[in-house]
Amino acid sequence: MSKIIFDEISVSYLTVEYDPIDIKPYAKGNTGIPYLWTFDSGKPGPHCMICGIMHGNEIAGALVLDQLLSEEMRPLIGKLTFCFGNPEAYQQFDANNPTQSRFVDQDINRVWGQELTDTSQNSYEIKRARELFPVISTVDYLLDIHSMQASGPAVAISSDTEAAFECVKKLTQVPFVIAGKVPDPQLLRLRDLPHFNDSKHPRAAIQIEAGQHWERKTVVKANQIVRQFLQSYGLIPASELPPALPQRQLKTVQIMQQSADSFHFSKDFKSGTFFKKAGSLIGIDGNKQITTPVDNCYLIMPVHFRRFAGPCGRLAVVDEAREV
Ligand SMILES: [Zn+2]
Repeated sequence: MSKIIFDEISVSYLTVEYDPIDIKPYAKGNTGIPYLWTFDSGKPGPHCMICGIMHGNEIAGALVLDQLLSEEMRPLIGKLTFCFGNPEAYQQFDANNPTQSRFVDQDINRVWGQELTDTSQNSYEIKRARELFPVISTVDYLLDIHSMQASGPAVAISSDTEAAFECVKKLTQVPFVIAGKVPDPQLLRLRDLPHFNDSKHPRAAIQIEAGQHWERKTVVKANQIVRQFLQSYGLIPASELPPALPQRQLKTVQIMQQSADSFHFSKDFKSGTFFKKAGSLIGIDGNKQITTPVDNCYLIMPVHFRRFAGPCGRLAVVDEAREV
């Protein structure tokens, strides 16, 4: 893989404001699967799952899971599962080199298709996905905690299904939602599993980008979102949350790719920055200006740790069909 090309703005995002926690006490699990804990209320109700650290350098998820498990959160109804997704990658996290340790062998969020059954492929992440799959395939509602490279308010990424839409609407701490079609079967993410994209069953998997990877406030926000998610399905008692944020349903109009080593953003834009006019300057790629292609565009998840010819962010507009 090509090296990350840093600039002044991206370097400013390398500060790690909090320490990762030791997850080894959670290794044994209570289901026979390492780092996976399921609690059954014994009463009817949905099976909800909270995943964290699918990407090993997105350490906020481990702190949230640690908090929920330490306070012995148990479901009032249904079942509740906590999952440390990629413990090996997480344990390689180094605050002096925090962009590394996203995975051990390959991105675990791209192995949920044929990899689950193709025994010629056996990377650490594929083996972990196979280990988790039997439990995931019994889950009704899954919240997968991720984080992003830029600062900014939380973003939910989901399938474009009715069940996913119903699920994200409950998350009033998440001001941006991007729904998309299931991609190439070679690149299935956890949220793309057919299990969560079956119109006959109202199941959903939502990926939450809770904030910048290593800002302390991301842990706080992820924690609030998880609690709201569980409250909305009646698994935990209602508790006070910050005021609801207006939620924008967005659709992607462009995934920006950089072509030159010298790409840089023209400003340190936060994720969620709004550009009223088409033609607004976003960055410079070599000697070419990168501008918004249409009016009323949001810059979502600008990429600061870029690689040559890699993505540098997405531009999205309000999806009128999904706005309520
Ligand atoms: Zn991630």
